[in-house]
Amino acid sequence: MSNVAFSKGEDFATKVPLLIIGAGAAGLCAALAAKEAGGDVVVLERDASPTGSTGLSAGLIPAAGTKFQRVKGISDNPQMFAADIARKANGEADPAVVNAVAVGAAPLVEWLAERHRLPFEVVDNFNYPGHSAMRMHGLPSRTGRELIDRLRNAVEQNEIVILTHSAAELLIVNPDGRILGIEIARPDGTRERIGCDALILACSGFGGNPDLVRRYIPEMGSALYFGHPGNRGHAVMWGSALGAQLAHLGAYQGHGSLATPHNILITWAVIMEGGIQVNCDGRRFCDETCGYSEQAAEVLRQPGGFVWDIFDARIAGVARQFEDFREAEDAGAVLGFDTVEDMAQMIHVPVANFVEEWREVEKLKLIGSRDRYGRQLRAEQSCKPPYHAVKVTGALFHTQGGLAVDACGRVKRKDGTVFPNLFAAGGAAAGVSGSIARGYLSGNGLLTATVLGGLAGRAAAEQLLG
Ligand SMILES: Cc1cc2nc3c(=O)[nH]c(=O)nc-3n(C[C@H](O)[C@H](O)[C@H](O)COP(=O)(O)OP(=O)(O)OC[C@H]3O[C@@H](n4cnc5c(N)ncnc54)[C@H](O)[C@@H]3O)c2cc1C
Repeated sequence: MSNVAFSKGEDFATKVPLLIIGAGAAGLCAALAAKEAGGDVVVLERDASPTGSTGLSAGLIPAAGTKFQRVKGISDNPQMFAADIARKANGEADPAVVNAVAVGAAPLVEWLAERHRLPFEVVDNFNYPGHSAMRMHGLPSRTGRELIDRLRNAVEQNEIVILTHSAAELLIVNPDGRILGIEIARPDGTRERIGCDALILACSGFGGNPDLVRRYIPEMGSALYFGHPGNRGHAVMWGSALGAQLAHLGAYQGHGSLATPHNILITWAVIMEGGIQVNCDGRRFCDETCGYSEQAAEVLRQPGGFVWDIFDARIAGVARQFEDFREAEDAGAVLGFDTVEDMAQMIHVPVANFVEEWREVEKLKLIGSRDRYGRQLRAEQSCKPPYHAVKVTGALFHTQGGLAVDACGRVKRKDGTVFPNLFAAGGAAAGVSGSIARGYLSGNGLLTATVLGGLAGRAAAEQLLG
């Protein structure tokens, strides 16, 4: 079990100025920013090759006021973005961190595009829940695999060392809270201590630790965890032992649209463009457009813990920009039908219930009205045959609670002061989603990983350089 060893001083055989634990988006952005600021940095990664939850994601980063938006005529700014984040989190997110990530996102995306050659584009054919402008920026494949590969490539181009097969297990700390170094374990059982002048925790949250999930997020205690299994909560455990301030441990990103049994993400575009979800009784059960995160628990509460995404061929065309959706089609998860009656029979839901729901939704679309759950329906989202259905379930994607940090990623003590040389970003830090799943605005995960990672890397390097 990971822990903390207090020591008044230690002679390390190996010492580096800046250590970063974790080579996901947070760690790699921190490393690139630190290097650019003149820092000497080494990244530690438990796996043979960095993937993390970043590599499993859709790789979409929200940013407001980018040149990519301007080219498409999208009007947006960081203030609107910050207001969207705060509104979704019901005012519970730390305003200083919200402001830092909202302001920092556009420069971050443009920096990755221009300096590190990540070919971002803005997704402009559908919008995500809670965003008042189209501001999701993705790579051509819309996959996190492409994001992590391109970030790793940039890190290698900048001659930054990533020590793989290096799981950080023990934090070595001076009694005043100054981090002296860490102890890593290798797969062959050997252990090594490495000293550092500053440390960035970019080892994400605790989704891969079922005990912590059950303790802090009981509603997802038995749900499928779809994030990186190596994220076992070291940052939270170390922080707890150090007396750090932990915030919003019940917050998480869920997703209510994971194709089952295929376990492939079905993009929320299928809902935002006019699709609906029905349960095995052929009934809708909520306003699906509130957010995919809170929808995970809603879906799991339905009989059997599954529901059906229902949409048409036009919507499938929008969804097809995602490699995941194309994979789902190849895997046979996306079923096709000529009539809604055929669909109801084939997916084994009561035909009368389903047809009644469907006709009601389509009628309200035509008059641009709200439904009984408050969902705004629009005429341009009317569905026409052929229709599609995908059986989906809810899953836990990643945890959003963690170490409370300031606007540069400096980890806070319980009294609000900061530790002298300890930083955190991404899933290791408390996010900007408030205390529950409903507070998660689409993209908050990679937002705090990339932007806070970059800010923490720069701040750590500048601190070391005096
Ligand atoms: C299916 C899916 C889709 C998603 N889509 C999106 C999206 O489109 N947009 C968005 O904003 N968010 C999305 N998310 C969330 C997003 O992936 C995460 O918020 C983000 O990747 C977190 O980045 P990170 O660098 O903090 O963690 P990670 O990418 O998980 O990286 C953490 C790294 O630390 C390593 N590590 C952990 N512990 C140790 C240790 N003790 N020693 C050494 N190394 C360690 C891990 O092996 C891992 O490589 C999605 C998540 C999932 C699961």
